[in-house]
Amino acid sequence: MILQRIGELLFPSKCVLCRSVLAKEEADLCHECRKEISDFSKPKRSIPFLASWTALWYYNGSVRKSLLRYKFSGRRSYAGPYGRLLAMKLLREYPMGFDILTWTPISRLRRFKRGYDQVELLAQAVARELDMEATQTLVKIRNNPPQSGITGHAERRANVLCVYRAVEPERFRGKRVLLLDDIITSGATASEAARVLLTAGAAEVTCAAVAASDNEQKNKPNSR
Ligand SMILES: [Zn+2]
Repeated sequence: MILQRIGELLFPSKCVLCRSVLAKEEADLCHECRKEISDFSKPKRSIPFLASWTALWYYNGSVRKSLLRYKFSGRRSYAGPYGRLLAMKLLREYPMGFDILTWTPISRLRRFKRGYDQVELLAQAVARELDMEATQTLVKIRNNPPQSGITGHAERRANVLCVYRAVEPERFRGKRVLLLDDIITSGATASEAARVLLTAGAAEVTCAAVAASDNEQKNKPNSR
């Protein structure tokens, strides 16, 4: 109890978006961010091979900065708050739930360099909240250049083509799959992952991400 109190004093919980110290009654997000940061509303466009998709926030401002800290500055603890908030949204939007929960993996090389797969951590956090397991269904078999350096939809699509291979398809054959990703920009990555899962026998694939841009040209794209 005393140790916990000292821990709280030394490492106070901070808002995952603006990093202000949270008050006692606040969790994950401060009141200000809960008020100011707009939730991602219904997607304006469909993404090939996805039955539907959703996200928690728009990919800009403090959301973008938060995700960059999560991916590149070792803030792996953000998986908890992201996962809790995303799971709440999924429960509201998809009351029927899913049969299996999985994620778009990063390459082994990138995972080795970063020390963690940020999307796998997110999938585990969402799975905990939904009382499911995060099941690996894909491996990345080609270390493609980051999507961030590539402009143009056809080019982004080509860059992710055949980067994934399905593993143990008997685990998801005929099932409704929830595919977790961190950011959806053009949707090319999620679309390619869904294509591979459907080809391997999945009944349908829905993608959920922490953030998405509904206008692929405007925002700085995903860098994986
Ligand atoms: Zn905040």
